[in-house]
Amino acid sequence: MNKFHLLFKYLVLIVFGFFILPMAAPLMSAEKSELKYTQNINPEAKMQDEKSSAIKFEKPLRIGKVSARYGKMKSPGSDKIVMHTGIDMAAPLNTDIYVAAAGTVIFTNENFEENRGPGKEIAVQHTNGFQTRYTHLNEILVKNGQIIQAGEIIAKVGSTGRSTGPHLHFEIRLNDKTENPEDYIDFKDLKK
Ligand SMILES: [Zn+2]
Repeated sequence: MNKFHLLFKYLVLIVFGFFILPMAAPLMSAEKSELKYTQNINPEAKMQDEKSSAIKFEKPLRIGKVSARYGKMKSPGSDKIVMHTGIDMAAPLNTDIYVAAAGTVIFTNENFEENRGPGKEIAVQHTNGFQTRYTHLNEILVKNGQIIQAGEIIAKVGSTGRSTGPHLHFEIRLNDKTENPEDYIDFKDLKK
């Protein structure tokens, strides 16, 4: 083997290295970052994080007045103390109701009894274990299973079910327990 052959061999190696290595490098780094990503996922830690973190809610009405707050109150027409599981906002019939946050409609009910129960009702499932409920509706504008973006109009204010006038009863539930909506949303624009 003479010097020229040896030189040629090195030249081929250098040319190969020059073209092949840059092509392989992104592949290698992609594999590396994928590995890093999967290693970072800890299912338990992720669930814990989702449970503890709140999401941003918007007021479901742009107009109206808070007429009953969340918490214990006297049952109308008796001395019984009952738990009011949401916040009531009086508003004109057919006022637009906005979803409080992006989510999926998990329940709609068009059937109701006069002067009994929640009337026409919608429940929306959000992330992090949160759910919102909208009751006494006059009209439901969404379907069960529908994905709702933040800011969408989902229903119209009504007085269906046990209601003495057009209003929205709005609930926030976290892991199936009702929460005070005022802990999540500033209703001061809707105060009397
Ligand atoms: Zn209510």
